[in-house]
Amino acid sequence: MIWYEEITIESMSLPKTSHTIAQGWDLHCHSVYSDGTATPEQMVQTAASLGLDGIALADHDTSAGWADAVRAARSNHMPLIRGTEITADMDGVCVHMLGLLYDPENESVQQLFATTRQHRIERMQQMVRNLAVDFPITWQDVLDMVREGEQTTIGRPHIADALVAKGLFPNRSAVFRNTVNRASKYYVPIISPDARQVVQVIGQAGGVSIIAHPGAIGRNARLLSDEQIAQLAHLGLDGLEVHHRDNNAEQQQRLTSIAHHLDLLITGGSDWHGTGKPNHMGEHVTDEQTVQEIIRRGAIGVIK
Ligand SMILES: [Zn+2]
Ligand SMILES: [Zn+2]
Repeated sequence: MIWYEEITIESMSLPKTSHTIAQGWDLHCHSVYSDGTATPEQMVQTAASLGLDGIALADHDTSAGWADAVRAARSNHMPLIRGTEITADMDGVCVHMLGLLYDPENESVQQLFATTRQHRIERMQQMVRNLAVDFPITWQDVLDMVREGEQTTIGRPHIADALVAKGLFPNRSAVFRNTVNRASKYYVPIISPDARQVVQVIGQAGGVSIIAHPGAIGRNARLLSDEQIAQLAHLGLDGLEVHHRDNNAEQQQRLTSIAHHLDLLITGGSDWHGTGKPNHMGEHVTDEQTVQEIIRRGAIGVIK
């Protein structure tokens, strides 16, 4: 029986002594190597101050932040799972896939990331060209928002930051509401690898694949159907991120039942982005038993 304990943390700035210790692992966090605002070291320190049992770094389409995170995990004695959130597509449905503990040297993985990152850059440049018709923004302005240079996976939040830096909008959320959302005339769709391929590539690299926030209605016009999830399970999918703020109660119930039916792992994560999103680290977590199974399946070890 997989158990789960939901913990809500009102503010990550509260001192740890006044706070419930979060039991479990937060398996979904972003850093400055994609669209988070904190360094991997700050991520690890935040996890330690919250008393989490462990943390996973899962930047978009890259493993570039892993080395920093490993150093920080060792010096702070905070257990770390290395991972990546991979954007994919399944018959027109946008799918985010958490790939955990895969071998980063695997050729198929490296090829997958190289292609995705190239597509992402072309897409971002086109969006900036579209925006430049109405706003004083250049590609260099966006690059100026990027903390780790070429190693950073550039996304819409970086465009948002550039518009905020110019004083055109008060914050990222306002930019998303007004200019860079899917319905906006400036928007350029993402070209993503097929989710079936991503599951197979992670599997070939010895990793564990989990569909991130599969019930996130707000992000998608359509969600993956039960049949599509079953298809991915047959290709080697390991689990579903059931506990995530973007899956509503009804979706969590649906996903839990699918997971039991298909014998998939159930995970939880906050999707923390530092100050880039309102999500609080540890607001959703994964239980120890599930984490141990993920570690058992993974190609590379947990960092302690
Ligand atoms: Zn996601
Ligand atoms: Zn995420």
